Amino acid sequence: MQDLQVKTYTGNDASLNPETIEKLKQSIRGKVLTPESEQYNEARTIWNAMIDKRPALIVRCAGAADVMRAVRFAAEHKLLVAVRGGGHNIAGNAVCDGGLMIDLSPMKSVRIDTKGMTARVEPGVTLGEFDRDTQAFGLATPVGINSTTGIAGLTLGGGFGWLSRKLGLTIDNLISADVVTAAGELVTASETDHPDLFWGIRGGGGNFGVVTSFEFRLHKVGPEVLAGFIVHPLDAAGDVLRFYRDFVKTTPQEFVCWFVLRLAPPLPFLPAEWHGKAILILAVCYAGDLKEGERVAKPLRSFGKPVADIIGPMPFTAWQTVLDPLLTPGMRNYWKSHDFKEVSDGLIDALIAHARRFPDPQTEIAFALLGEGVTKVAKEATAYTHRDAGFVLNVHTRWDNPSNDAKCIGWARELFQATAPFATGGAYVNFMTQEEQDRVRSAYGSNYRRLATLKKKYDPKNLFRLNQNIQPGE
Ligand SMILES: Cc1cc2nc3c(=O)[nH]c(=O)nc-3n(C[C@H](O)[C@H](O)[C@H](O)COP(=O)(O)OP(=O)(O)OC[C@H]3O[C@@H](n4cnc5c(N)ncnc54)[C@H](O)[C@@H]3O)c2cc1C
Repeated sequence: MQDLQVKTYTGNDASLNPETIEKLKQSIRGKVLTPESEQYNEARTIWNAMIDKRPALIVRCAGAADVMRAVRFAAEHKLLVAVRGGGHNIAGNAVCDGGLMIDLSPMKSVRIDTKGMTARVEPGVTLGEFDRDTQAFGLATPVGINSTTGIAGLTLGGGFGWLSRKLGLTIDNLISADVVTAAGELVTASETDHPDLFWGIRGGGGNFGVVTSFEFRLHKVGPEVLAGFIVHPLDAAGDVLRFYRDFVKTTPQEFVCWFVLRLAPPLPFLPAEWHGKAILILAVCYAGDLKEGERVAKPLRSFGKPVADIIGPMPFTAWQTVLDPLLTPGMRNYWKSHDFKEVSDGLIDALIAHARRFPDPQTEIAFALLGEGVTKVAKEATAYTHRDAGFVLNVHTRWDNPSNDAKCIGWARELFQATAPFATGGAYVNFMTQEEQDRVRSAYGSNYRRLATLKKKYDPKNLFRLNQNIQPGE
């Protein structure tokens, strides 16, 4: 066997001899993959098909001890390190060229404590797996809207979904986490144990270590919610969205409505004559008493002349997967996002103007309502700082033919520029691409200095640098 060529975290080339790799293999309970291994390509493939990186080594971890060994090995050999949870992040930092990828996807245990209403969750768990297990007991916590997203990356960036208006961000429901630091030590972070680290991992991304277990607070949800879509022609979108922004202010926190602008997919609930035409979709979820939900949603459902209205009771787990067919893995993806305090007239006009010229039928403009559960928490309470933004725009530019890269990316950038005057200037780390290095400080906002100090304490050499990176500082 030959030496393995690797990349160090300082950007240099180096090599590891076969004995060193064999020693690593012997120490790991899971698997160590090299480019010759059978599962190598599967393990390095992530959600965004724009990312095609080739790690020198992939450690598929079976537990926290494997993570500790992988981190120590990487630190000893100064290897570039990537950490993979669900592999969904748009920036593609879950994988790296020439370095060591710590793959947590085999770590899938979920343990529910029904008495204490908590869940212990390993970092390879996806949102769909988490929801299935918690809903078996009629419980849930706020997570995202696509079931194949990983709980780990989502939580470390903040995390929001249909339950956030009432129950806050995912991190607002985090009780503790086990973290392997850059020194390869396992520590518990909570309000009482390493509270500084606990503050930092709630919004600071993967900057401070590898989380091997999350403990979440659970809430009674469902098992049925009132949910579904109201679909309007794009030509009516201006009036509908002006009504929407005033209407949501009058609704209780159980009610959430996000909206999507896109070309109508050929789905059976949409009349055939609308397939391929530009539409506005109001995605509604009421997680509370179903009859009360009907009453609350009525004015929105009665407004204008919708092309379709398919709101009704459905299992919460079904609603949590309802957008999956539009967000399948393996497509080329380029995202742009902004935070907003208000849905202003100028913003509505800019969104509609760009929705008139989508560059690809798979591309969509998604607009999330976060609401009071998120905004009521103080900016300094966790590393996630943009609490004052009640709305988040995410331009999901998706296509499959690489020859359309320039057209699709160009359209997304134009939309980003056109909506910037109405935005807060903040950014959500979980929606940022790798090229947005100039936005990293805005993403951490007024918490950046405190995060930099914490980074120096827990990761002074910046071993965990493949993320929206915080430089170790004073
Ligand atoms: C289709 C789609 C829908 C989405 N919807 C939502 C949504 O509704 N709400 C929302 O808030 N976000 C949403 N997101 C964004 C999502 O939160 C991020 O992409 C998130 O980073 C995904 O986590 P992951 O574990 O799957 O990703 P990965 O790519 O595996 O990880 C992302 C990064 O997190 C870090 N990381 C991962 N696991 C660990 C760990 N255990 N310890 C330390 N660091 C770690 C690493 O730096 C890694 O590069 C969505 C993303 C997609 C693609």
